Amino acid sequence: MRPLSDRDALIAEIEIETAETAPLTGRRKLSARLLAALRKVPREAFIPEADIAHAYVNTPLPIGHGQTISQPFVVAIMTELLDLEPDHSVLEIGTGSGYQAAILAELARQVWSVEVVPDLAETARAALAKAGYGNVEIRCGDGALGWPEHAPYDAIIVTAATPLLPPALLAQLKPGGRLIAPVGAAYQTQTLTLVEKSALSAIAQRAIMGVAFVPLVSGCERA
Ligand code: SAH
Repeated sequence: MRPLSDRDALIAEIEIETAETAPLTGRRKLSARLLAALRKVPREAFIPEADIAHAYVNTPLPIGHGQTISQPFVVAIMTELLDLEPDHSVLEIGTGSGYQAAILAELARQVWSVEVVPDLAETARAALAKAGYGNVEIRCGDGALGWPEHAPYDAIIVTAATPLLPPALLAQLKPGGRLIAPVGAAYQTQTLTLVEKSALSAIAQRAIMGVAFVPLVSGCERA
């Protein structure tokens, strides 16, 4: 039998963690489409040279500017909970490395991603282009304001901790859409929160599990 590659081993670990956290998430298994995306997207293409050896370890890694690429299990479960369809338009807040955006790009029609640090936006743009993702657009700005020009979105994913759900993001979510965000204070455990907007635009939210994200900061740094 062929030995497990690092990537297969990581995916097996993610599947076990998914099953273990099912009482919290309501998802015992990841969708076949998401598993295929996790198998396909090269995580090593989105992390600095120095950490390439750890690309397939189930852990966050530094990407510079005090920021991190999220833990692969967290990327997987947040994506799973969005129930993406091939025709969906998705907004991501916090592009970071671009890895989460690449996973979204495999599952949806178009990804719009907002990053506050110009350098990270530039590096992610280059990494996504090199990996062949033509359906991701990145803008430098304050993600708490969303990206009104392309709204409404079928799904919104916030990948930095926010004390409150930004009202602009709720407004830019389509009726029937889903938003996932780590809600809570910075530098402590936040509550991964799933928001569903009904066909009549009523907002319902559900606490999923504890997570630890870097904070959502305001303003756009000058390059
Ligand atoms: N999704 C990323 C991980 C993001 S880490 C990945 O796959 O690698 C959180 C990111 O949010 C950081 O890059 C940080 O610079 C960015 N960020 C923080 N505050 C922000 C804001 N107000 N608007 C947009 N991005 C923000």
